[in-house]
Amino acid sequence: MLITFDLDGVLMLNPFGSGVFPYVRKRISEQSGSDPQEIRKAITGEAIRRQLQGDMVAAYDWDDIIRVVAKSFEVNWNESIAELVERYCVPPHIKLYPGVVELLANLSEAGYTLRALTNGFYIYQYPVLKALGIANFFERIVTPENVGVAKPDPAFYAASRENTTLPHIHVGDNVIHDVWGANRSGAISIWVHNDLPEDWKDKTPLERAKDPSIAQIVQAGIDADLCPHCHPKLVLSEAMPLFVVGHLSEVNEIIHLLMRAG
Ligand SMILES: [Mg+2]
Repeated sequence: MLITFDLDGVLMLNPFGSGVFPYVRKRISEQSGSDPQEIRKAITGEAIRRQLQGDMVAAYDWDDIIRVVAKSFEVNWNESIAELVERYCVPPHIKLYPGVVELLANLSEAGYTLRALTNGFYIYQYPVLKALGIANFFERIVTPENVGVAKPDPAFYAASRENTTLPHIHVGDNVIHDVWGANRSGAISIWVHNDLPEDWKDKTPLERAKDPSIAQIVQAGIDADLCPHCHPKLVLSEAMPLFVVGHLSEVNEIIHLLMRAG
């Protein structure tokens, strides 16, 4: 069995939100006199613009995005985002979610092939995995700049299956990128829904996925995305997860269930 993991929001918190981006906004604001909120909007706008243009790799190239945005504020940016990531690779800017080490250690001991499948460039993600002590669990880290496409493109999922014909399970928290992407590529989708409704807590991952309210909850996940309209081919019926988990420990149970089912 090949198990691919989304990283941000599933296994780890990356340092962009509380470290890298606030630093970048502050520096550009100091040098331009502009409001940091305007800079925030410009950064998000530039990332969305790239997605809308279909330039899915450039949409995650933060060094280039920040350079372009800084220039629009007449600031000449020459700091390396990868270096800033490394600088902020300390708590509280980064952390592992509960159950991560246990899950990865269990799956790895059981002999499954584990790969990371992330839209974050390698230079931004590897230092975080390393600092958190989980880099070695992954046989590969599949990233957009190395493959030429990004999630939710099925080609990105196909690239993550390189050199293996094992059945593929993907675990992720974003409905569009992880669930829809995995479904379209023929992988089994496990949706990590960090905010499980109260009455779903006692249900099994399969029961939640078959619950009458699932369509509404998946739709809410789509609506919360940075750019749902960046994916005009998206249809709700194709974005339904096969399993819904509220905690990573449930992933272990699903895999054992699937193995027993053959
Ligand atoms: Mg994620």
